[in-house]
Amino acid sequence: MHDVRALVEREEIHAYFKALWRTPEFQESHVPGGYVFGWIERLADYPRFVGDLSDPRIERAHFSPWWNVLGTRSYDNAAIHDLFYLHEVAHMAMLVYEDSMPWSAWAAKMADNEMLASLESETLVYLAMPSLRPKSFDATIWADRFLAEESYGGGMRDAAIRAAHRSFMLMERYRARRVPDDALEQRIAAFQHENEAWAEIWRENYAVVERGMYTFRGIASRDRRAAATWFLDWYGRLSEPNGVPFRTEAEQFAEVYWRSRA
Ligand SMILES: [Zn+2]
Repeated sequence: MHDVRALVEREEIHAYFKALWRTPEFQESHVPGGYVFGWIERLADYPRFVGDLSDPRIERAHFSPWWNVLGTRSYDNAAIHDLFYLHEVAHMAMLVYEDSMPWSAWAAKMADNEMLASLESETLVYLAMPSLRPKSFDATIWADRFLAEESYGGGMRDAAIRAAHRSFMLMERYRARRVPDDALEQRIAAFQHENEAWAEIWRENYAVVERGMYTFRGIASRDRRAAATWFLDWYGRLSEPNGVPFRTEAEQFAEVYWRSRA
């Protein structure tokens, strides 16, 4: 990652994302009371960092939002562009950190975070902005099976159904690996396996990130600017000498990531 820059104040964070959105849906929803505004407001509880990938082969799947750095990406499709950023925002806004957490508890926390970020950017976002769906993916996505209104009503507009769906999706992701001839479920199962491999790769070093982020948030609750300075120093040391923090983990996970996309 290079050109890592700090977005310190709440207004700076809003301004960055306001300028980033490319669909009218996201742009129009980034006003007080809007769905997108709500996410950015939550994101803005802490300073955030944005950077550009130095080595996309290993950094694309390196999950830098975990240590509070959003890696920029470009997409031809404006809706997919906005959805990618929503996904990363949801991750960052929902992450919590602990300075002492056993690996298994940490892995479960991270799996939940991925699940909730995916649920938001792959399903719930289409409830907030239904006109986005025809603009995003051509293939059937998870949401299509649940968003459709049936003759009896249904759909996802009901809060109770949303809650049921939330737990159903959690269950289904695990179950998915046993459904052999369903392309969608297989895709979901592949993601699940990747997430498990990712957690395994981080077994040695996950606590370095957790402790760093825990410290950062402690400082930020008193002084946002001091926290940003602390972070850039911490991050700079980890990124030496080639701009990729935790390069070993990045290399190992890149192998998993690109293997399933070959
Ligand atoms: Zn994710």
